[in-house]
Amino acid sequence: MQDGLFIGGVWETTESSFDVVDPSTGEVFASVADAGAGDAVRALDAAAAAQASWAATAPRERSEILRRAYDLMHERADELARLTTLEIGRPLAESLGEVTYAAEFLRWFSEQAVRVGGDYRVAPGGDYRIVTTRQPIGPAYLVTPWNFPLSMVTRKVGPAIAAGCTMIIKPAEATPLSALALGQLLADAGVPDGVLSVLPTNRAPEVTTALIDDGRLRVLSFTGSTPVGKKLMEQAGSKVIKTAMELGGNAPFLVFDDADLDAALDGAVVAKMRNTGESCVAANRFIVHESVSEAFAAGLAERLGALRPGPGIEEGSQVGPLIDERARTRVAGLVADAVERGATVRVGGKAPEGPGYFYLPTVLSDVPADARVMREEIFGPVAPIAAFPDEESMVAAANDTEAGLVAYAYTRDLKRALRVGEALETGMVGINRGLVSNPATPFGGVKESGVGREGGYEGIEDFLEIKYLAVDM
Ligand code: NAD
Repeated sequence: MQDGLFIGGVWETTESSFDVVDPSTGEVFASVADAGAGDAVRALDAAAAAQASWAATAPRERSEILRRAYDLMHERADELARLTTLEIGRPLAESLGEVTYAAEFLRWFSEQAVRVGGDYRVAPGGDYRIVTTRQPIGPAYLVTPWNFPLSMVTRKVGPAIAAGCTMIIKPAEATPLSALALGQLLADAGVPDGVLSVLPTNRAPEVTTALIDDGRLRVLSFTGSTPVGKKLMEQAGSKVIKTAMELGGNAPFLVFDDADLDAALDGAVVAKMRNTGESCVAANRFIVHESVSEAFAAGLAERLGALRPGPGIEEGSQVGPLIDERARTRVAGLVADAVERGATVRVGGKAPEGPGYFYLPTVLSDVPADARVMREEIFGPVAPIAAFPDEESMVAAANDTEAGLVAYAYTRDLKRALRVGEALETGMVGINRGLVSNPATPFGGVKESGVGREGGYEGIEDFLEIKYLAVDM
């Protein structure tokens, strides 16, 4: 297990370190090097020094490095899955699913690396030619959250390598080990020394400020909470550093009176319970037509109540713990607030006995619109349900939030699906599907959920700059 800093192709140790905790037990299982401002600047020295030669490599060469990294991820799948399960507690099967998802970003961008295009136009006056090309923007700073420890990294590393940018990865405090394992894997796949550094740190603001203030950074790609994203946009603004922001969500899940209820319930379980609800695209609010709301609440309570919480490392566990005690206390507070305002607990509603930061899968019905659980990102296994009389009030409720990442809608009516899909103020809409994430698609939000898109044809754009040549004839 790698537990040092990875700077310029070399593993280093530090005097100070920080602990990594298994949330299934609450116990420390590893200790990791703790990067500071000086280490950050050394990583940027390495990135800046490697930038020109890396940008000059053949796109095919970068493509094949990514393809080898994809193969290596599959070869090391069990080891990587186990590491992330120790870090965040979720069942091994889910962790293996994330390895596949994360690897797929490497394969997708290995295919995109050789498809970066330009343009040749005749100037309107006919007197000269307009040639456009795309060049790597330069050293990139990649800041990732803990909830998907591998894919949130590869979703940035893939396009950065494809574009020809050098990079510094700063993983979340809770999940440094999987990012370090990825650092080694990418080096093994042929990423040259200096192109990629990994800086685990317990001092994120110090490291980030040092990198931004240095002036050599060209793009900051962040995935995490909206408050931190806003702060980093402000900081990056001081040096006019391009920012790409994948921030928090508050996904509405709409079930219309003409929905296939069984399909909606299956989709709801996926949209709610993937990663113990600790997902930016987790269904946060169930907005259900009043004619089917009782049947939907009963069905969801039955399905969520049947799921077995337990340490992810143990066979048979179906729901992992929350990331830490603070997260569990927050989720319990949201449930208590909803109950105080008149919501009914249909199942769960408390933490189970025993070690770890578990919280029982919970369904709440008759949840009023002003309950915090409807307004804040829950990030836990709690499903609040509210009933509405018609399509108009359902869409209005869905849009009544500053977040705009994803929405889900279940209906059998194609016209309604398209009408509602267009009216929902989100970057993504799942129509009769509880899962939208796919490396081949442009993932991202509107409003306060972010700026930019990751994955798809669009995901490489954050790492490219357009250059225009005016060529006199
Ligand atoms: P977070 O904002 O607390 O942390 C994210 C990253 O930012 C971590 O690496 C952390 O160390 C770093 N960080 C925190 N404060 C910082 C500061 N002052 N300066 C510099 N860096 C700082 O988020 P989290 O708890 O790790 O992740 C959960 C959040 O991420 C949720 O809101 C979730 O919706 C969001 N998320 C969004 C997406 C998306 O694609 N839109 C994907 C996954 C998670």
